[in-house]
Amino acid sequence: MHDRDTLRRFLFERYPIRGHLVHMDAAWRALIEHRDYPGPIRDTLGEAVVASLLLAATIKFDGVLSLQLQGDGPVHLLLAQCTSGLSVRGLARHREVSAGGELNIRGLVGQGNLTVTLETDDGAQRYQGIVPIDGGRLADSLQAYFQNSEQLPTRLWLHANEQGASGLLLQKLPGTGSVRTTDVESIEDAWRRVQLIADTLTPVELRTLADEEILHRLFNEDDLRLFEPAPVYFRCRCSRERVVSMLQGLGETETRSVIAERGKVEVHCDFCNRAYVFDAVDVAQLFKAPVAADSGSVH
Ligand SMILES: [Zn+2]
Repeated sequence: MHDRDTLRRFLFERYPIRGHLVHMDAAWRALIEHRDYPGPIRDTLGEAVVASLLLAATIKFDGVLSLQLQGDGPVHLLLAQCTSGLSVRGLARHREVSAGGELNIRGLVGQGNLTVTLETDDGAQRYQGIVPIDGGRLADSLQAYFQNSEQLPTRLWLHANEQGASGLLLQKLPGTGSVRTTDVESIEDAWRRVQLIADTLTPVELRTLADEEILHRLFNEDDLRLFEPAPVYFRCRCSRERVVSMLQGLGETETRSVIAERGKVEVHCDFCNRAYVFDAVDVAQLFKAPVAADSGSVH
């Protein structure tokens, strides 16, 4: 199987139901490169990253969608972010857990919440929803999210391992649109039926079959329209400029004390593990530059 890093949309011609299929192969492996996540955490992060892509693809926006799990379990924080351009990044902060442990989200994250937020490019944050973490898998909590937040009826199927991460989303659209069936009862029947059929898709099939094969395997009795694949990327938004303003925010005394102690300041990005290194000359330069007016510093 070739590496796929794509998202594909499809529509049921007869019913107001749509879907997305997403696969991350090389992009997923790049996201977890240099990260030594225990298997269950890695796979849950993969599911979250794929879910963030599937959710972002259902919304028209310019910005960043974040899917965050926070709780009192071994995983304090699990964060997946997807931009409207379908670039993703993600991280997990955790205590030690056994590598062979179970992929149970309550066991990993404990008592806590799943939060979905949308931050638009103009800086406005549109709060989306928050639900308690529930059930065994991430998809179960997302199910609760869709039920509780007055979103469109939606189901997700997610699977990730060290090689890749894949997901399927089905969503029932409001009204009847331009579809051929307008009878509400038949639409409800179809919605129930497509979910039951999608439940028969095995994780291995979701991970390994081509999109056409998956859709044929599931919905060969339905008229489907499959759109061209859109590329999915792993891309971190960290930059030297951001680290510079972080250090400026930290203050000259603090930053110089690190230089005095270690000879350099080394900052690692939590998402991509990229290292930003500043020596004494860099630090001198950094605090010679005029400090931005909004930093609150007075000279
Ligand atoms: Zn980064």
